[in-house]
Amino acid sequence: MGVEQRYRKVADEVAAAAERAGRAADAVRLVAVSKTVGAAEVARAVEAGARDFGENRPDQIVAKAAAFPDVRWHFIGNIQSRRIPDIVGASALIHSLYQARHAEKIDRAAAALGKVQDVLIEVNVSGEESKSGIAPAEAAALARVCCELPHVRVRGLMTMAPQGDPERALETFRGLAALADEVRAQLSEEDAAAFTELSMGMSEDWPAAIACGATIVRVGRAIFSESFEE
Ligand SMILES: *Cc1c(COP(=O)(O)O)cnc(C)c1O
Repeated sequence: MGVEQRYRKVADEVAAAAERAGRAADAVRLVAVSKTVGAAEVARAVEAGARDFGENRPDQIVAKAAAFPDVRWHFIGNIQSRRIPDIVGASALIHSLYQARHAEKIDRAAAALGKVQDVLIEVNVSGEESKSGIAPAEAAALARVCCELPHVRVRGLMTMAPQGDPERALETFRGLAALADEVRAQLSEEDAAAFTELSMGMSEDWPAAIACGATIVRVGRAIFSESFEE
């Protein structure tokens, strides 16, 4: 199978999983994580129907967004302060915000570009030291900080589950979904209405994430790697 076939297979399976979870077939957005591949593979995925791509490095998202301006680019990597203007310039959605000082810089960069930047708050649900993200208990406070910023719109939460442990991954996904409900309940009616997204699930664990309520899955290897085995 090539990139086109693998993309279509994952996209079909994501749609079927959404329906099994009692939602519309198009209720879950598939973000093709292209961080390990170049423009040729991105072009093949676009050909197969991909319209959302994820990158974790500022240089890469800037270059690829310039080369493919008609699809949506998602920033899923570590945010460095000095790269925020570049990230904001290229991103439809930033998944990995977890510091208030970065929210303020995103607000200024978005204002300068005349846009409102959609963001997700990254939460370290599992508490693993190697994972980035805010502690669950602090997510609501950061969401409220974002709601005060006119050029930032907080759309929901994102997490990364522990790899290689399906039970703990499931707990992590359930935890993020429950936390999102808690945070939403603390927002104004208008802010709560925009707070609808749960970005969770990667190549190994996206079916479980959809069963737990994911609205966005971020899939890299299952689309772009020849050697990925489910
Ligand atoms: C790389 C990456 C992914 C995709 O991981 P795969 O296991 O290749 O599907 C998803 N989310 C984030 C934040 C990543 O860095």
